[in-house]
Amino acid sequence: PQTPSASEAAVRSAADTTWTAEVVSAGRKYEAETAPVVNPARLGETVGTYALAGTRIVDEVVQNALAAGAVWGSLTGVERGRLMHTAADVLERDMVSRAELLTREQGKVLWESELDVGGAPRLLRYYADLAPAVDEEIVVRDERGTTVIRRRPMGPTVVIVPWNYPVYLCMMVLAPALAAGNPVIVKPSEFAPLALTKTLAMLASTLPDGVVNVVPGLGSEAGAALVSHPGVRKVLFTGGTETGREVLRGAAGNITSVSLELGGNDPAIVLDTAGLDDRLIREIRRSVYTCTGQVCFNIKRLYVQRGVYDEFVEKFRQAVDEIVVGDGLDPASTIGPLNNRRQFESVTALLQSTRKTGARVDVLGRRLDDTDWDNGYYLLPSVVTGIPHESALVSCEQFGPTVPVIPFDDIEDAVRMANDTEYGLAASVWSEDAEHALAVGRRIDAGSVFVNSHRVGSSDMTMPFGGMKRSGLGRNHGMWAIDECSELQALSHRP
Ligand code: NAD
Repeated sequence: PQTPSASEAAVRSAADTTWTAEVVSAGRKYEAETAPVVNPARLGETVGTYALAGTRIVDEVVQNALAAGAVWGSLTGVERGRLMHTAADVLERDMVSRAELLTREQGKVLWESELDVGGAPRLLRYYADLAPAVDEEIVVRDERGTTVIRRRPMGPTVVIVPWNYPVYLCMMVLAPALAAGNPVIVKPSEFAPLALTKTLAMLASTLPDGVVNVVPGLGSEAGAALVSHPGVRKVLFTGGTETGREVLRGAAGNITSVSLELGGNDPAIVLDTAGLDDRLIREIRRSVYTCTGQVCFNIKRLYVQRGVYDEFVEKFRQAVDEIVVGDGLDPASTIGPLNNRRQFESVTALLQSTRKTGARVDVLGRRLDDTDWDNGYYLLPSVVTGIPHESALVSCEQFGPTVPVIPFDDIEDAVRMANDTEYGLAASVWSEDAEHALAVGRRIDAGSVFVNSHRVGSSDMTMPFGGMKRSGLGRNHGMWAIDECSELQALSHRP
């Protein structure tokens, strides 16, 4: 990833609206160079800075985590759960200002930032309640003796976080890692490190020293150094598929265990029997454009059965035309800007090349404010038709406010096109005939398949969440997440 350029960093400082993402570890102070975080809605505005930690800091922080892990891992699950609940009380404070900070560094609308920040105490409490179950043992007795099967913490656990839902996605894997008895070291994204680091500084101060550590910095430096560090026993990575490959390579040297939550290119199949009412159209619109299209399990491709294709496209265009694009802090905005220049340029280039292929790109919605438009990474939402399934816009994870809508005649074709991807994160099928839709859903190669929605389950902590194929390794949520960062030990003795 690129760092925001210096020209984007004309400083506007106001003590109450900025934050410095420092290294957080065992209450100690670490000196490091810093880099600015720029508001994607106002490129002249610096929202804060983050430390550029290097290998020396990484090394010290891993030692702190190792020392803290000996204490944290020896507590009972009940004791850890109690401490995690106390920490959740602290994280419930001051959520509005952290959500505002998140909108200013990330770009998304405020209610989405509130969901993101609000997820932290919710996830912490959920795993605090599960923590006692970590100590449950399975005892197997037979004529050869007795075996006790138990979980043990893995040790220092690195959490690498993307910029789209930084607080929630960090806490989704950090909370189970803590419940399992591991100390954690978080590497926030360069593009949204502030609200997360502020949240984690609060969390760290309520737990024993060194249990929660934060190492801001570049992925290629701090991130790579953490992943390949011999003291690290587990890496929980969320980000792009290409970076996931690098993380696997970096961890290979020490045979460090890695779980990956990677990219997605989620298909949605709308059947003739869907019944195109307002709720369906709005739900699909939400699942395409939320966070300006920058969510791993947003709908990225729409396959619509021929009988309802024209009606769908017309109603969908009308609904997308209601979207208002502006600063995420303005309540009149439905979506904000894209998060960073790399994302803005890649989506813009993709739309340009799609136009050249002869596809129809309908640019819809409206600008909230014309004057600031070129001063942010703003893009109006679009709907693409007349595009073959083989196009780049269909096969890649576009991660922007656009979606191709492709007709199909036969269910077999829809299933084939839906599965014709290297990704396998989530998918949805839309129909009033739920039995039929579920039968189609069973044939889709994705970790989560939804019928008549594209979100139930994945935001529910009790359902397994994770990707097939190149969308990831391992599963999150529930005890599955705890098992991702626990060692299983079989302790046997003969009579
Ligand atoms: P990214 O892969 O560019 O960066 C993710 C993190 O990895 C950042 O913190 C970055 O600094 C770090 N990093 C970069 N190079 C590294 C290296 N060599 N070693 C260690 N760490 C390194 O991803 P992004 O642009 O921040 O996020 C967008 C991507 O994340 C999309 O592909 C999206 O689908 C995916 N994502 C997946 C999920 C999921 O749950 N499956 C959730 C959100 C985002």
